[in-house]
Amino acid sequence: MKCRFPLAAFALLLLCGCAKNTIRKPVERSAFLKDTHVRITVFDSAVPEDSVQAAIDRCIRSMEALEGLTTAHVDTSEIAKLNARAGKAAVAVKPEIYQLLQKTVDLSRETDGAFDITLGALKDLWGFDAENPRVPDPGAIRGLLNFTGSAQLVLRNGTAFIINPKTRLDLGGFGEGLLIDRGVRVLQDAGIQAGLVEASGELRAFGKKPGRKTWRIGVRHPRDPEGGLIGVIQIAEGGVSTSGDYERFFIDHGKRYCHILDPKTGVPASRCISVTIVAPDAWTADAYDTAVFVLGPEKGMALIERTPGMEGIIMTERDGRIQQFVSKGLKSKYKSFE
Ligand code: AMP
Ligand code: MG
Repeated sequence: MKCRFPLAAFALLLLCGCAKNTIRKPVERSAFLKDTHVRITVFDSAVPEDSVQAAIDRCIRSMEALEGLTTAHVDTSEIAKLNARAGKAAVAVKPEIYQLLQKTVDLSRETDGAFDITLGALKDLWGFDAENPRVPDPGAIRGLLNFTGSAQLVLRNGTAFIINPKTRLDLGGFGEGLLIDRGVRVLQDAGIQAGLVEASGELRAFGKKPGRKTWRIGVRHPRDPEGGLIGVIQIAEGGVSTSGDYERFFIDHGKRYCHILDPKTGVPASRCISVTIVAPDAWTADAYDTAVFVLGPEKGMALIERTPGMEGIIMTERDGRIQQFVSKGLKSKYKSFE
């Protein structure tokens, strides 16, 4: 059975009936940041509505500012400046960006290099952000693989240096998660007790939705072109993020190539078709969904199971049939419609 849901996101919120004693309808706002569609919903009726609206304004501005620092597409961002100085000089970066880069280096180590923010030039070679992505020349892939890996990034005393002039950083693997956590922090700082921030389908829920013990999050069916759901997860609160091979891909000679690259080969990872991660925050969920997608079902599930506070669903496809592997702690909280 497949459940239909009108929004075409990767992980979807099921807005279930509000409790009888809810005082006010949720306050909801959508916004477009440069690359990202964001939706903010506040369920806290104890905070006056004009204060909620003002907090949402601050939340959107703060997410925009963070995107402006981390996107590789705007010359003035910290990441674009670093890329422009690759092979030339170390760049002093803001403390929050320094810490972020440090976290990505740690994650790369922890995932045996599966998560790698130095794949920017390879991503451009495949053309995943361009109109016509294509399979590149194998020699060109091999050439660029010499300039990837977290050892290319040297972090010292608040400065960052990219060793090779051809190496490009790309934070796309956790871009939405990072913004979502920032948005949630701004709302919580404004005293809001319960809400949801979603960006391009990744999300974080905090507090308790009035009248409900858990949040119900839909997981998109990876092979339904209409964006129907394959199942529903229940969480108390936290981040949920999905990486799927249906998000950005092209088909060449009958083979599907998606936007998540295996850093060992420089070729799109293909052992998973969808990975959903549940974690305490959205950054972690978003970074790990990409890493697990690359690692594949066995090593990926081992990583989920050994990471405290993390649960996940890994989907693979064999002879047109979808297989779902659910982590131990999620089995009682995930309902599949298949
Ligand atoms: P997601 O949809 O969260 O899996 O993020 C995919 C994006 O992460 C891609 O569009 C790239 O910008 C970036 N990316 C691709 N492969 C990797 C990788 N192995 N490690 C980290 N980031 C990656
Ligand atoms: Mg991700």
